[in-house]
Parts: sequence; C-alpha cells; structure tokens
Amino acid sequence: MPSHNLAQIKIDNLEIIGYSVAGEETVVAMPQLDVCFDIGKAPDQIISINNVLLTHGHMDHAAGIAYYLSHRHFCGQSPGTIVAPENLLGLIRKIIDAWSLLDGNEIPANLVGVKAGDEHQIKPNLFTRAFPTKHTRGSVGYTVIEKRKKIKPEYAKLTGPQIVKLKKQGIEIDYPLEIPIVTYLGDTQHVDFSQLKYIVDSKILIAECTFYETEHSGRAEAGRHMHINEFAELIEKLQNQHIIITHTTQRTPMREIRRILKEALPAEKYDKVILLMDKRRR
Ligand SMILES: [Zn+2]
Repeated sequence: MPSHNLAQIKIDNLEIIGYSVAGEETVVAMPQLDVCFDIGKAPDQIISINNVLLTHGHMDHAAGIAYYLSHRHFCGQSPGTIVAPENLLGLIRKIIDAWSLLDGNEIPANLVGVKAGDEHQIKPNLFTRAFPTKHTRGSVGYTVIEKRKKIKPEYAKLTGPQIVKLKKQGIEIDYPLEIPIVTYLGDTQHVDFSQLKYIVDSKILIAECTFYETEHSGRAEAGRHMHINEFAELIEKLQNQHIIITHTTQRTPMREIRRILKEALPAEKYDKVILLMDKRRR
C-alpha cells in the first residue's frame, strides 16, 4: 500500500517520482539512477532505491532515515546507503542506534559523509558530486554525473588492431568525459550556481522555489529559501533542458503559483519548467 500519492514525471527514459511541499515533506527519487534525493517520511515506493542523498537535516527532508534502513532490512534487502553532509553523520548514527535499541533489532546502515566537492560512486559509470548550498551549516546539493571515456578525435578513424598497438605503447587515446544528468539543489537561498559548469550543463535541474508573492520575500530570506524573483535570476544563467520546481509553499494556491511563474519567467524558460506538485500538468 503506497504511503501517499507521489507525483510522477517522465523525461526521456528517466522517471522522477516524489512529493515536495514546504514544511511538510520532501522526497524526490530517480529509480533508474538508483538515487533518492532527501527521504521525506520514507514513502514505500522509494524503499528499494539503494542510495539516499540527503541535503540537510531538517525533519521534513530527513524524518524517514531510520524507517528506510530498517524496512529494507525487514524485506531482506542490502543495507541502504545514506550520503549526507559529514557534520550530520554523528547525529544520524545516534538516531539509528537509538532506534535499534527501541526496536530490539540492529539496523544495518551504510553511512557516507560528504562535504562540498566530494564524490560518491553509485554505479560503475555513475557518480554524485556534492556542492555547497546556503541553507543550514554544511548543507549540500548533488549532481549525478555519468563518466565516460571518449576517443580523441585524432584517433577516431583507427582500426581495432591499431588502437591496441597504441595502447601497448602507453599512448592515451581517449579522454574522460562527464555528462551531468541531474542536479538537485535541496533547500537553499539564492546562490550563483552558474559558477559550477556541471550544474549549468545538467540536463535536468530540480530546484526549490518556495515563495511567489511579493509580501513573502521576507519569509524566503528568514527561512533561507528562494523567492520567485531569485529563482528567475538563477535559471537565467543556467542551460538546463528541464527544470523541476520543488518545495512550493502551501500559503499560495497552485493556480496562483502557475500564474506568477508564467509572468516572472521568459517564455523560453517557462516552457522548460514543471511544478512537481502541480496536478494539472501542461
Ligand atoms: Zn530545510
């Protein structure tokens, strides 16, 4: 029985399922990449995903950690991996230990601490890289990057045996290529993310934009979240093909959010935007 209805988006072959309402719950999973950005209250649909990438410790993003780990164990799955800001690791350990005692069963967990710039391997060719955000101490966002080797153009026309010969001579015939697939900002106030090329070039951007009304800009500032004006400024400098907005406020009705969004963004950007929680998809 699914915990509650998760939004579903499909971009090419990639599925994005999640739920994200400010102050209530945020969890965004991409099953094909085997990652779940934040965990919310650990809805059933994401339990089998092996990697949880936690951006910060706020309850609405992190409450489900112990349940996720424990339920995987109960279902005979391998221990889940929680990638989290390294300054939170001690506290997460304490929560898991306390729940293990309360439950009477050891909860297996693979905890990985990261700071901005660190990478964690998800699959042989798939990595996540953490980058700094401005929300809480140590908070990070994540980009999932495919790493490939590409043959240098000058060797592209060589035959198999010729390539083998060059390799035997120790000649580097290929170069590393990074393909940023998706960037997830988590909660953050406005930061000029255009400084990081892998964010600029990510095919998909999943970004918070919490507040929309003019009189809510103070709330955005106080909670270290983004207001539509800052969000518009942010995406102007980025090249993402698809932009998914998460963490929308409950203070503004969805139809009003839709209207303000259309007004605030240039048409070319607006066409790329999907509101995760909008039930009336364009
Ligand atoms: Zn938060």
